Amino acid sequence: MRPIIPDYLAEVLGDVEPDASGEPAGYIPELATADTKYLGAAFAMLDGEVYGSGDIDIEFTIQSISKPFVYALALSDRGFDSVLAKVGVEPSGEAFNEISLESDTGRPLNPMINAGAITVHSLAGAEDLDPAGRVERVLRGLSAFAGRRLKMDEAVYASEIEHAHRNLAIAHMLRSHDILTGDARTVVDGYTRQCSVLVTARDLAMMAATLANRGMNPLSGEQVVPEAVVRQVLSVMFSCGMYDAAGDWGTQVGIPAKSGVAGGLIGALPGQVGIATFSPRLDVHGNSVRGVSLFERFSSDMGLHVMEVPPAALAVLRSNHVVGSGPNALRVLELQGGIGFAGAERVVKEAVDNPPSEVKVALDLTRVYSIDDVARRMLLEIARRLTLSGHDVYLVDPESIMKDPDPGDGGRVTVVDSVDQAAIPMGAVQ
Ligand code: GLU
Repeated sequence: MRPIIPDYLAEVLGDVEPDASGEPAGYIPELATADTKYLGAAFAMLDGEVYGSGDIDIEFTIQSISKPFVYALALSDRGFDSVLAKVGVEPSGEAFNEISLESDTGRPLNPMINAGAITVHSLAGAEDLDPAGRVERVLRGLSAFAGRRLKMDEAVYASEIEHAHRNLAIAHMLRSHDILTGDARTVVDGYTRQCSVLVTARDLAMMAATLANRGMNPLSGEQVVPEAVVRQVLSVMFSCGMYDAAGDWGTQVGIPAKSGVAGGLIGALPGQVGIATFSPRLDVHGNSVRGVSLFERFSSDMGLHVMEVPPAALAVLRSNHVVGSGPNALRVLELQGGIGFAGAERVVKEAVDNPPSEVKVALDLTRVYSIDDVARRMLLEIARRLTLSGHDVYLVDPESIMKDPDPGDGGRVTVVDSVDQAAIPMGAVQ
């Protein structure tokens, strides 16, 4: 059978292709001459599978799409407090290159506008790195997100740095507020090199998939940044990633995203997929025209809006049945899937509404693939209360999904590998 997704992607690309509106970025001469015919889209799944259609292996410069990734590097290299002291997390609602700083502190409002991103560049790597070492840290970090060694486009760098008056003005403002402590020109130079890293739509989809996969690159298996950093980055992408179009984007597309002026656009849907598109003509906000249309289609065709979440909790309790009879009867609550707060609540409700009359009760986790922290505590509390009301509680957990299965405070569970083990009549010899 032919894979379905590339056919779908080709069809949607065909639908948006005739749209020739917008212009490539004009303020960087090397980008102004970009070939506007390019059009591609790639989906990277969390097992590393990439589906694509169109120009997904053409290299172009990453530009502002580097911002969320370098923010992630700075957060993991310097810690949240040091980064938040210098760059806020509030949407500015202004254009990407607006010279907008908080009036009292001089902090840039967020890391997705240039003022924030220039500051963030200065926070990547250890404090005592020299400028070349910092650029190397950024290049290595972006490469780890992509899963291959990336390089820079010297021509685009040279072209942008020659016309970087506005970014220099922003950097000097930041320096005057002591948000930047080093030489303003040197930081803009490093930031401009960061923006000139070459990527393909395939790379960008994999980078986005690394964010969607809680910071672990699906191909290399490397944990590039910690999970807490990824949550921070995706949240900021959601509220600030699309500049002054962030509100429209958040309501209509609803995928944490970032665009770049070379025509790239990424979206990272947590737990599901990394998406990237490439088409160089930009709208007035600096976002790729056909890229935005593609994302609108993807979101509505496939229900990818982050606020549209399937009711996974409803399926958590797969069955409630009894194995065996008489005094050895075992009540089995068979659970399945990934269990979070709402899923654990289903189990609590079942135990409360239908209190087991059997002495032996098993929570069967054989078909469970993840339990988050609140669900773990709730399930152990069920076990504790069942123990206190006279039950022998078993946890059927062949894959050790439940971390530290100790209900504490009078509770007791026996961990076994199968329901059969729990059902063995007490005192029987195997
Ligand atoms: N290097 C570009 C700049 O700083 C990036 C802007 C963008 O991609 O939105 O102006």
